[in-house]
Amino acid sequence: MLCKVDRLSVVYRTKAGAQHALRSVSLDIVAGEKLAVIGESGSGKSTLSLALTGLLPEEALVEGSISWPGFGFDPVAGRDIGIVFQDPGSSLNPVLTIGDQVGEGAGRHLGLDRRAAREKAVELLARVRIPQPENALGAYPHQFSGGQRQRIAIAAAIAAGPSVLIADEATSALDTIVQAEISTLLEDLVKNGDMTLIFVTHDIGLAASLADRIAVFRTAELVESGDAQSIVHEPQAEYTRQLLATHIDLESPRLVGVSDAR
Ligand code: ADP
Ligand code: MG
Repeated sequence: MLCKVDRLSVVYRTKAGAQHALRSVSLDIVAGEKLAVIGESGSGKSTLSLALTGLLPEEALVEGSISWPGFGFDPVAGRDIGIVFQDPGSSLNPVLTIGDQVGEGAGRHLGLDRRAAREKAVELLARVRIPQPENALGAYPHQFSGGQRQRIAIAAAIAAGPSVLIADEATSALDTIVQAEISTLLEDLVKNGDMTLIFVTHDIGLAASLADRIAVFRTAELVESGDAQSIVHEPQAEYTRQLLATHIDLESPRLVGVSDAR
């Protein structure tokens, strides 16, 4: 087992009082798996991502524990765990070149000099399929489309060769086709199984098509978790059934449209 989340609670202290973002969540994460974390907005998915990376804000009160038997030490965010957010703007700095940003993590964590870091950046940009990666090095984030920026953010996240990649709604801000391209890229990156993917989304359809296992969250609680096929075909919780029903309702007009056109 890579990671054990044991009765984890996270409470934010706000002016309006204490707010539970996670309530006694227990979850095991297996090395090499693709785990989808799903649930509606505000259910605690990002809080879990931040807790796993050790990036929770100071005002968060934490109970319970997260241990990493797979590492045997506390992993370092950016080195052992890469994270990509919904908005590439929050991962990429607008005033730094792509080369500097993608090479930075590799330089710092792998001890590469400037030239080696740039070579590594070219290799990473090619890996996330940025065309003409050498030319991209001197460019700035605004010179790329949203989908390409997200590819660059992914390149920066995997620069130091982390064993875990957390993608927190990494495709949610993108249009459908680009969303599919980015999820295919994430799938390809973890294909050989030496990187664990934690894929956070509110889209159960996307989760079902990508993940080995799905964990369903609702209002700070883990509703159920299990094998992706079982969750989709034999959901135990009423809430999961509702999520699936909503997904089907959203999809069916399009399916009807397709068959009508034939
Ligand atoms: P999700 O990612 O599923 O949308 P979050 O983990 O971001 O959910 O948020 C879970 C709950 O915690 C929400 O009610 C949210 O308003 C609250 N929350 C998140 N971050 C903070 C924060 N820094 N301060 C106060 N409340 C927060
Ligand atoms: Mg979130």
